[in-house]
Amino acid sequence: MPFKNLNGISDKTIDIHWGKLYQGYVKKWQEIQDKLEKIDLTEASTTFSEVRELKVEQSFAANAVLLHEAYFDVLGGGGKPEGRAVEAIARDYGSFENWQENFKALGMASRGWVVLAYDFNDGKLRNYIADAHNLYGIWGASPIVVLDMYEHAYFIDFGSDKKAYIETYFKNINWERIDKKYAKIAANY
Ligand code: FE
Repeated sequence: MPFKNLNGISDKTIDIHWGKLYQGYVKKWQEIQDKLEKIDLTEASTTFSEVRELKVEQSFAANAVLLHEAYFDVLGGGGKPEGRAVEAIARDYGSFENWQENFKALGMASRGWVVLAYDFNDGKLRNYIADAHNLYGIWGASPIVVLDMYEHAYFIDFGSDKKAYIETYFKNINWERIDKKYAKIAANY
C-alpha cells in the first residue's frame, strides 16, 4: 500500500479507513450491481421501489469507492507543489495560495468531502464540497485533489482538531502523482 507511513496520519487510521471501510464500499457496490441485473422493472415507482432504492444506493457506494480511491491516491510522499496541475490551479484561483486557502476553508465547511475537480464543461479547476458521497457532485467534473472530512479519517489521530488534520493532509499530498493525473485528465478536454 503506497499510502502507509504517512506523516501524522497513523497506520491504524489507514488500516481501518482503507482496509475496512473502503473495502466495505467496494463489496456493497458489487452487491448492488448484481441485484440490479435481476430486478423486476415493472415495479418501478418514485415513492418506493427496489430499483429506485438500489439506484440511489448505487450512487452512494460508487462515489464512496471513487472518492476514497482518489483520496488515498493523493496521500504519501509529500513533495513541492509544482508542475502543470499547480500552474492550472494558480491560473483558475489567482494564485496557488488562494486556492489552498479556499480548499482548507471548505475542509472546515464540509461534512464529507472536499474535491478539486477538473470541470469538463469549461476546462477549469474548481473546489467543491460533498456532505455525503452522493451529494452535490457536478456532472462532468473529474476529481483530482480529494480530502476526506468524515470523522473516521482524522478522529483517531487528531480528535476534533480538524484544522490540524487538514494541515497534515497538505503535508502528505503527493504533487507528482497529482500532476500525472491532471495531465491525463486534461488531455481529454
Ligand atoms: Fe472515508
